[in-house]
Amino acid sequence: MNGPRKVYIKSYGCQMNVYDSHRMADTLAPEGYVETDRAENADLVVLNTCHIREKAVDKVYSELGRLREMKDEAALAGRRVSIAVAGCVAQAEGKEILRRERAVDLVVGPQSYHRLPDLLRKAEREGHALDTEFPAEDKFDFLAPASREATRKRGVTAFVTIQEGCDKFCTFCVVPYTRGAEISRPVAKVIADVERLADTGVREVTLLGQNVNAYHGDGPDGKAWTLGQLLWRLAEIPGIARLRYTTSHPRDVDDTLIAAHRDLPALMPQLHLPVQSGSDRILAAMNRQHTTKDYLAVIEKFRVAQPALCFTSDFIVGFPGESDDDFQATLRLIEDANITTAFSFKYSPRPGTPAAEMDDQIDEDVKADRLGQLQTLVNRQHERFQQSCVGRTLDVLFEKPGKFDGQITGRSPYLQPVQVMGHPSLIGNIAPVTITGTRTDAKSLFGVVAQPAAQPHNAAVRPVVRRRRTNSWRRCGCR
Ligand code: SAM
Ligand code: SF4
Repeated sequence: MNGPRKVYIKSYGCQMNVYDSHRMADTLAPEGYVETDRAENADLVVLNTCHIREKAVDKVYSELGRLREMKDEAALAGRRVSIAVAGCVAQAEGKEILRRERAVDLVVGPQSYHRLPDLLRKAEREGHALDTEFPAEDKFDFLAPASREATRKRGVTAFVTIQEGCDKFCTFCVVPYTRGAEISRPVAKVIADVERLADTGVREVTLLGQNVNAYHGDGPDGKAWTLGQLLWRLAEIPGIARLRYTTSHPRDVDDTLIAAHRDLPALMPQLHLPVQSGSDRILAAMNRQHTTKDYLAVIEKFRVAQPALCFTSDFIVGFPGESDDDFQATLRLIEDANITTAFSFKYSPRPGTPAAEMDDQIDEDVKADRLGQLQTLVNRQHERFQQSCVGRTLDVLFEKPGKFDGQITGRSPYLQPVQVMGHPSLIGNIAPVTITGTRTDAKSLFGVVAQPAAQPHNAAVRPVVRRRRTNSWRRCGCR
């Protein structure tokens, strides 16, 4: 064989899938696979899929059709290409994928991907392999850690999964079926992962979980730790300057989390808190187990503790039975909570979920119309927020070169992309930037570096000096 084998991994859906894709690449690296960013070059193609909405599944099957042609052409040229389907579509569809698409060699669910190397060998021996179990072993104990080189390549921000699965069973959602019951990783293992990342220059870590604030991992003191407690501990790791977490559930917000937003400077002032609907009738039908009043009360608690906090959310329009009044209530909630960014979706019936069987399914054109109205409102609020940042000075963590010569790009505490003209040596550093304008579509901000970066480039070897309660974002609220 000439040189290392190449793997191309395509991620669909949420950040948890992006994280899982990195871990798959790390696990395949000791088997001699290096990552490529082009499917045509690959010996192994992995589609890491998402099953949340119907279109996502359709996209996977049409991508598999394209890959089949590519695989057939490679075979004619005497080259073997393997195709794996991983993630939640793999979990939900299982054998059906092998039946429907002859090009697929292996199907692996989200809880079994640490077994990828063995499954590949099995597929080579037997023609195909399938593993959609919820194994007793913890996959995180079997995944190879990322090499220093791989972590460096991925940049100065990183994801770490701390919680998986869900026991809440919202009536529209497949997650409890595809990702399984809720589990939290032990505190010591999360710390070890974050220390390893910090050691290679990562400055910002986003903790991931389907319900990340339901975290209750075993702590070193023998007690279950909350997310709030975990965040304090992670902020002590030298080099880690910023912490974020996603996705949260309004029901799982506790006082330790609110206090962390009040007192922990490393915790960024942006919180993704999905609500789905502004109608109590629809929230009950969704089995969300909270009302709009509960949601607004949680937001108010956060804002009292930390006035600078900015809220983003998820919405579903056209849930079965949603009337125009219900939808208007959702628009009101977006205004009342001042949601500045949202992921918004047309309700998509998922087989096996209770809502898919409900009467009063809503017409697609009504869903499309409501989605358009909702997005217009959110975009307006987003633009207003972007404009309110002009003239302010925000700390920016620089991540990579920009599109144009001499430009570098980073993120504000609110996760807004910010572009400045600056030296590439700033990448990996946090520097105050005075915001001078917004892009015409308000998607990103432009600014000028207000003063040289305070933090060392390789912060892993020198602890970050914490500027308690003086972060620029504490002077820039989005209310
Ligand atoms: N656990 C989070 C929560 O409770 O809000 C959400 C996680 S879910 C993986 C991500 C988002 O996908 C949801 O917030 C919801 O808006 C959307 N979603 C889930 N199922 C859906 C469906 N059947 N149709 C449309 N959107 C859906
Ligand atoms: Fe899905 Fe989130 Fe509801 Fe769990 S809480 S069922 S992940 S929407």
